[in-house]
Amino acid sequence: MKVLLIVSDGLGDRPIRELGGRTPLQAANTPNLDHVAKIGCCGIMDTISPGIPPGSDTAHLAIFGYDPYECYTGRGAFEALGMGINIKPGDVAFRANFATLEARESGLLVRDRRAGRRLPEGDRLAEKLNQYRLKTAKDVEFRFEHSVEHRGVLVLSGPGLSYRVSDTDPHETGEMLRESKPLDSSEEARKTAKIVNELSAAFHQILDGDPLNRERISRGDPPANGVLLRGAGILPEVTPLTERYGISCSCVAAAALYRGVAAAVGMKLYRAPGDTGSYDTDEESIAETALRILPENDLVFIHFKPTDNAGHDGDPETKVKMIEKLDNIMGKLLNGIDLENEHYVILTADHTTPCAVREHTGEPVPLEMAGPGVRPDKIAAFSEIDCQNGGLGRLRGKDIMPIMMDYLGKAKIFGS
Ligand code: ZN
Ligand code: ZN
Repeated sequence: MKVLLIVSDGLGDRPIRELGGRTPLQAANTPNLDHVAKIGCCGIMDTISPGIPPGSDTAHLAIFGYDPYECYTGRGAFEALGMGINIKPGDVAFRANFATLEARESGLLVRDRRAGRRLPEGDRLAEKLNQYRLKTAKDVEFRFEHSVEHRGVLVLSGPGLSYRVSDTDPHETGEMLRESKPLDSSEEARKTAKIVNELSAAFHQILDGDPLNRERISRGDPPANGVLLRGAGILPEVTPLTERYGISCSCVAAAALYRGVAAAVGMKLYRAPGDTGSYDTDEESIAETALRILPENDLVFIHFKPTDNAGHDGDPETKVKMIEKLDNIMGKLLNGIDLENEHYVILTADHTTPCAVREHTGEPVPLEMAGPGVRPDKIAAFSEIDCQNGGLGRLRGKDIMPIMMDYLGKAKIFGS
């Protein structure tokens, strides 16, 4: 017995006037999603708890069976892991942006949070940053890794560090570069904030006078003369799924965050060729990759990102199209699995991202599952509205793993 778990990011939505008062899921043509609803069981799910808008990281931790209130230790470490950066327990990782800063009397103004987005010099600039040696803490080392476009990761390694420090990124263009502050009264948080502020100032100094930036300016590009840091995080202390349930599990995902959460809970990482995590993603390749790795796994987790992007872009029409891509994934999967004898399929979302709000909100998400022995209910279409009347009722994210492990015969009887 094997499980395919599909999470469509930000899939949940609200009724939308342009769609005739329907949600994007109701408006989309989804014969395969509806087929699973018809032969299987549906419900709605509060990923964290009712009314709490989940971040993607905490939501996925919950869906993988962990209590994010207990184990969540920031986003940065997931990003680093998902980028393939080797990070040790205790290392503090930050998400980083190369940015364009402008000197003002009161400090540094953030002129462009992404330094124009196009940054072919990124790797070379990162190398220059890495030559700097910390003065405030000689026992701490850092490394800066450039990933794509303006993005990168900063990792601090050494004794006595904390992830409880604030961002230097003001998250808004036209604001001043922030000072990192300790978020609790510990010596570790104070030490870490001091290091972050030293690096923030040093990075600006190194980058501002660099010939690569003079070239950028002469080309008409904004200089990448600063680094914004946000989302400090350390690896969470969790028992991986492989140990907890004795299962082998893998993930098919494109974006670093989801790959990182999956790696942190013990999944092997795969990337489908052509999976961009964006509107142009090759959805058939995602399904093919999942089917290819299914034989050597008990659980395969598929992450589908573009539904969330359309929610953030406030674009119902595109969300409908992305849901139809998701339906295409389900169609491909159904052709390659045996729901009567061998396979379970579960499809849900990590949170609701209504096109009208363009941010994550706290409404429950729809959920459907099918497979050997799953009791069918009376739901025949997959949507936020239909699933409210399903046989699974209203669940929490953390209920998903126990339900799946029960079907796989991996759950232990409580009592005797
Ligand atoms: Zn999400
Ligand atoms: Zn989102």
